[in-house]
Amino acid sequence: MSRYFISDLHLDSSRSQCIEGFLRYLHGIQSGDQLYILGDLFEAWLGDDDDNAFTRTIADALQTCAGTLYFMHGNRDFLVGEAFAQRCGLTLLPEIHQIMIGNESILLLHGDSLCTDDAAYMKIRPMLRDPNFQQQLLAKPILERQAIALDARAESQAHTSQTALAIMDVAPQTVRDVMQAQQCRTLIHGHTHRPFDHQSVLEEGSGRRLVLGDWGDHGWHICEANDALILESFAL
Ligand code: MN
Repeated sequence: MSRYFISDLHLDSSRSQCIEGFLRYLHGIQSGDQLYILGDLFEAWLGDDDDNAFTRTIADALQTCAGTLYFMHGNRDFLVGEAFAQRCGLTLLPEIHQIMIGNESILLLHGDSLCTDDAAYMKIRPMLRDPNFQQQLLAKPILERQAIALDARAESQAHTSQTALAIMDVAPQTVRDVMQAQQCRTLIHGHTHRPFDHQSVLEEGSGRRLVLGDWGDHGWHICEANDALILESFAL
């Protein structure tokens, strides 16, 4: 049995190389394996009722995957709901989740909650994650949701290009605080698109933070076998 962790595929109907790479990747997952999708599988998600050729392709591929699938929301696909999860055989995870690997508790996050230096994003994040806000959004017609998503993306791109690079990364003190509060010495997250296996992230020089990469020409995953975690990239 192996465990795999991926995030930030940012799939949409125009990214055929990524879609095909992901379908091949799912094929490689064996019965008994576990795949953890740690957010931003989709570039945008308008709601589980947005049924089209692209969402059907992904849903079918997930549904026929031999392994056990877990899904954590990212800041792009926070509207993925129970209906889509059931259709694909995904187990939805809360935004902070721990799993045991060997004797060690591993903390899983998408990673956006760690970017606390980005004040503008931190201000709207509670609203985006609020179930009431999400229900109001989902009650709007799909065309209206599409327009809102396009606006949000344009705003986010303008914000990203104006915001200093350091602000878009995690805040080291927030990482330490979260790991200490959760009593975990190993953290896996995505979101920042800065794949790296960071050692000694806690005060006393211990602790490990593994950051997943986004998918483009290459895919990224963390593979766990025999209790060892390895960050790897592969051609798509
Ligand atoms: Mn993200």
